[in-house]
Amino acid sequence: MFSSQSLPARVAVIGAGIAGAACAASLREAGLAVTLFDKSRGIGGRMATRRAEWAAADGSPVCAEFDHGAQHIQARQPRFRAALRRAAAAGVVAAWSPQVHAAWPAPVQRESWVPLASMPALARHFIGDVPTQLNFQVQRLQRGGDGWRLVAVDGSVQGPFDQVLLAMPPAQAAVLLAGHHDRWADTLAAVRMAPCWTLMAATQDLDWPWDACEPEAQRSPLAWVVRNDRKPGRSAPKGMATWVAHASAAWSAAHLEATPAAVQAALSQALAALLPTGIKLHWHHRAVQRWRYAVPAAGAATAGPTQECWWDARRGLGVCGDFLGSTGAASAGGVEAAWRSGDELADTLLAALDDETAAALPLQEQPAAVDQDMGLALAHAA
Ligand SMILES: Cc1cc2nc3c(=O)[nH]c(=O)nc-3n(C[C@H](O)[C@H](O)[C@H](O)COP(=O)(O)OP(=O)(O)OC[C@H]3O[C@@H](n4cnc5c(N)ncnc54)[C@H](O)[C@@H]3O)c2cc1C
Repeated sequence: MFSSQSLPARVAVIGAGIAGAACAASLREAGLAVTLFDKSRGIGGRMATRRAEWAAADGSPVCAEFDHGAQHIQARQPRFRAALRRAAAAGVVAAWSPQVHAAWPAPVQRESWVPLASMPALARHFIGDVPTQLNFQVQRLQRGGDGWRLVAVDGSVQGPFDQVLLAMPPAQAAVLLAGHHDRWADTLAAVRMAPCWTLMAATQDLDWPWDACEPEAQRSPLAWVVRNDRKPGRSAPKGMATWVAHASAAWSAAHLEATPAAVQAALSQALAALLPTGIKLHWHHRAVQRWRYAVPAAGAATAGPTQECWWDARRGLGVCGDFLGSTGAASAGGVEAAWRSGDELADTLLAALDDETAAALPLQEQPAAVDQDMGLALAHAA
């Protein structure tokens, strides 16, 4: 590592999604000089809310917001649950218990949370006052004698940093790691992420007795449909209902290169088919979004990297994100997996810095080590 022992380590976290936010927040709290970078205009990554504007029939402007990425957060692990409860106490998230369409199998109901009043609010809460540079797309990393530099697509450079932590989907991290850590780059390039086509729509308001449904795969191209305006803290323009409908991974993969117009038509038809017969939808607004790397592909967690995060102390490089770590009983995956990975990377780096500090102390100043077997404190001093 590069920094002098007396100065706080300078850390760059690239990616201001929930993994990068969790990681940066912990490091900042521990006193490190952290800077967060993201290529987008806003923070939150795949925890995203899009604002749409269109003209009504009389020409007046109308706008609505759609949570077009992650819909909600589930938490299985005590540490993440505690973080969400603190966020709830601060008014940042609210519990969400959707009414699920009775005609379809109901999803398992667990404690479910939604950030208020838009999805990036949780990342914003964690990031707090961590210095953050948006619209900074890192094109490559440069390692010199005094540390790491980040080179952006527009040629601007930031640094030096003692450590660089990547908090982004695996394919994007692989590009930045190539030439610096080829083994990691190769492993990440092979991690499979499932795509997702998403329909965002505003229709006439409907007296519809459900807020969400998970249609069966054999009956619909849609995997998860949510009445957006009925989520906590959301609303729709007067007289309208807003919808977010995610296509299944299989349908999205099969139509990955289809035109947005064709996808919009197919998903609109699929949404209309979920209505009781006889209701004709009036579309006030429709748009689609293609997520090329939406969620780790089924089975990816067992086939891919199972550590919660990666850390290379010699290079000062780390990786975190939702594609790392094991899911299943231990984690709900998705947002929880991302948070946990970022939090774990921060802990790992802090422990490594503690070890370095201890190793750099003159012999007589080194702290007492505990002999595990005898329960005795053994002084290292001569
Ligand atoms: C359609 C959809 C529905 C989902 N539904 C759910 C759900 O209901 N519940 C759930 O728990 N999870 C859900 N997920 C998954 C969840 O959103 C993700 O697991 C989680 O948000 C991932 O967080 P992350 O921080 O690992 O990555 P991201 O959120 O992807 O953050 C990565 C960040 O890195 C930035 N970045 C990438 N490359 C660069 C670069 N070169 N330079 C600078 N910045 C860069 C990106 O702009 C982005 O902000 C869903 C995802 C999608 C897409």
